[in-house]
Amino acid sequence: MLEQNTPGHQPIVPVKLDLDSTICFACDKELVCFTKCCRSNEIILTPADIIRLKHHFNLPSDEFLRRYTIPGTLQPTELPIPVIKLEEERDNACPFLGDDGCTVYEDRPVACRYYPVAAGLFHNQDIEDNETFFAMINEPICHGHGLGTDITVRQWRKDQGVEPYDEINAPWVDIVLKRKSMGPFVNIDDKTLKMFFMSSYDLDAFRRFVFFSPFLSIYEVDEDRAEKMKTDDYALFDFAMDWLKTTLYGEGLITIREQVAPADTIEVD
Ligand code: SF4
Ligand code: SF4
Repeated sequence: MLEQNTPGHQPIVPVKLDLDSTICFACDKELVCFTKCCRSNEIILTPADIIRLKHHFNLPSDEFLRRYTIPGTLQPTELPIPVIKLEEERDNACPFLGDDGCTVYEDRPVACRYYPVAAGLFHNQDIEDNETFFAMINEPICHGHGLGTDITVRQWRKDQGVEPYDEINAPWVDIVLKRKSMGPFVNIDDKTLKMFFMSSYDLDAFRRFVFFSPFLSIYEVDEDRAEKMKTDDYALFDFAMDWLKTTLYGEGLITIREQVAPADTIEVD
């Protein structure tokens, strides 16, 4: 199982939900718990979250990561993942929490969109596809449970704008789940971890890696695609995932021009 969002260390009610399960929940500014869920919780950031937030602040990815995140690990894969850096001096508040609530609401991370639903992913080998399951996070601090009208998990995801994030993150999720299926005994070296981190989260560094290293003399990249990748983070991320799948798992999505061992040829910063 790969849990996408398990804020805090509070118990998750062990009720497995699917897309057609109904939940009864409503969040409201008037509740006494307003914004309490934005403190002391571990919020992991997916690649799509980082693209949205770096655009929100008009920051390069490395600067965004430096200012607002700390390193985390995506268990049980051992792969790195950025986690929002909480502000100790503000009672462990999320840095994006303002007096009136979330200051990045339209670009809030997918974990915040799902809450209080937790989403988990696993690879179903029988159907050779990834499946998602859900559970309710029922924390005592949150007073929204039982309020509002019944709604399906499917509708909740739609209302919260989760779907476009899933679409962007899909190839990354494939890579993570594939790593997970290898089991804990297959070691990943530091260079591979760096490659994974840069391609997944630090897209501006990946752009420099592609355009200011021997990369393009080793890999064949369609001219139109390369041109788009210069300015479009989504196109670049799409390519980065193809490159990772090619390099890590030999999926052959990017053609190598020369019979060289690219991992030994290009240095990853
Ligand atoms: S109802 Fe729950 S999600 Fe809404 S503000 Fe309160 S703690 Fe946060
Ligand atoms: S990003 Fe917004 S919704 Fe999410 S924890 Fe921070 S302030 Fe709260």
